[in-house]
Amino acid sequence: MAKIGRQKKKQIKVKKEKFIPQSLKGMRDILPEEGKYFDYFLEKLEKLAKIYGFEKIEIPILEEKSLFTRSIGQTTDIVEKEMFSFVDKGGREVALRPEGTAGVVRAYIENGMQNLPQPVKLYYFGPMFRYEKPQAGRERQFHQFGLEVLGAAGPIVDVQLILLCWNFFQEIKLQTELQINCLGCPDCQKEYRRRLLEFFRYKKRLLCPNCRIRLEKSPLRIFDCKEKKCQEISSTAPSIVDCLCEACKNHFIKVLENLDELEIPYNLNSRLVRGLDYYTKTVFEFWPSRIGLSDEEKSRFSLAGGGRYDNLVKILGGPVTPAAGVAFGLERITEEFKNQNLKLPKERRNIVFLAQIGETAKKKALHLFENLVKAKIDIKEALAKDSLKAQLELANKIGAKLVLILGQDEVAHKTIIIKDMRTGIQEVVNVDKIVEEIKKRL
Ligand code: AMP
Repeated sequence: MAKIGRQKKKQIKVKKEKFIPQSLKGMRDILPEEGKYFDYFLEKLEKLAKIYGFEKIEIPILEEKSLFTRSIGQTTDIVEKEMFSFVDKGGREVALRPEGTAGVVRAYIENGMQNLPQPVKLYYFGPMFRYEKPQAGRERQFHQFGLEVLGAAGPIVDVQLILLCWNFFQEIKLQTELQINCLGCPDCQKEYRRRLLEFFRYKKRLLCPNCRIRLEKSPLRIFDCKEKKCQEISSTAPSIVDCLCEACKNHFIKVLENLDELEIPYNLNSRLVRGLDYYTKTVFEFWPSRIGLSDEEKSRFSLAGGGRYDNLVKILGGPVTPAAGVAFGLERITEEFKNQNLKLPKERRNIVFLAQIGETAKKKALHLFENLVKAKIDIKEALAKDSLKAQLELANKIGAKLVLILGQDEVAHKTIIIKDMRTGIQEVVNVDKIVEEIKKRL
C-alpha cells in the first residue's frame, strides 16, 4: 500500500503542460473592429453586384482536389505549393478552396446552369485558403468577394467587371491603379511559348530550377517567380501582346477603347499574368496607389484581380462557355483603407439605451426591450450589468441619444424616466406611452 501511495505522489508531481489553444499560423480572427470594415465593403459590393444583375451563390469550402489542379494549373504556385489538401475518411483527395472561380464553374456545370438564359451572373463571399508563407498582406486564410459572368464572350463584359471594381473603389474613396494585360488564346500562347523558348535559349541556365521547369511546361508562370534573378532576366523577355492573334488583339483593343470612353485610367502591364493558368485574353488587377509604394509592393498588395477564362468550363467537362470574373481581397482592402487614412462613415443612428436598477426592474426591462424592438426603436441594453453608472457610461460610449431608466419606483408606478443625453434633462413618463414619448424626442 505504502508503495502505491509513493507512486501516486510521483505521478502527481509530473508537470502537466498547460494547453493554451492558439489559432493556426497565417489564420486569424476577424474581430468586431475589422468586421465593421468588412460589413461596409460587403454592403457596397453586394449593392453594386445586384445593380449589375448578379445573384448570390454559396459554394462549398471543401472540394475535390482535382478541381483545383485541373483548373488553376499544375505548375502554378497555388497548386504546387499552397494547397491545403488531405485525404478524407473515404480516401478521397480533397482541398480547401484556394479561390472561388473553380467552385463556381463546377456548380454551373453540375447544376445545368448552361440551360438558363445566358449569361449567368453570380457573386460569392467567403474564406479562401492558401498555404503561403504568412507575411504582410498574405495570409493562409483570407476572404474574397467574387463575381463571375458565365456565357458571355464580348469585351463589354470585361469592361463592365472593371467598371464595377472602379465604381466600388471610387465609392469607398480608395486610391487604386488599374493594371491590364491580354494573355490571348491557346494559339497566341503557343506562339508566345515559342518566342520565350527562343529568348531563354541561352539564358535558361541562369533561371532557378523551378523556372526551368516552368519554361517547358507553362512559360507564363516564369513571370510569377519571386526570385530576383529570374525577375531580372524575364524583365526583358518578349511581351505576349506582340503574339496576339487578330481576334484576341481586337478583343483587347475594344476593352481599352471602352475604358478610354469611360475615362477609367489604366496601365498596360505586359508582365501581368495573374498566377492561375485558366486565364485567356483580358487580365487585370487593381493595385493600391499611394506615394512611397514601389511597383513591386503595389503588385504584392494587389486588392482585386480578375480576367477572362473562356476555356475553363470546357476544361472542367462542360460545354464551350466563354466567361470572366474578378475577386476582391477583403483583408487587403481593409488594410489599405486604413493606410490611406480613410474612415468608415459615421452611422447616423438614433440609439435609445434601456437602463435598469434592481431585480424587478431588470425583469420588466427584459419585456420592454422586446416591445421596443418590435416598435422599430434602435434600442440597446446591458441587462447583465447592475450598476447604473456603468450602464450610463456604456450608453454614452455608444452614442445613445436617449436613455430610459427603469427602477423599483418606476415599476411600482408604471412610469419610466427618459433622459435626453444631449441636454441632460430627465422626465418621468407613463411606461405605456413610451414609444410615442421616444418618437417625440428623436
Ligand atoms: P487572386 O485569386 O490571387 O487573384 O486574388 C484575388 C485577391 O485576393 C487579391 O487581389 C488579394 O486582394 C486577395 N488575396 C489573394 N491571396 C491572398 C492572401 N494570401 N492573403 C490575403 N489576401 C489575398
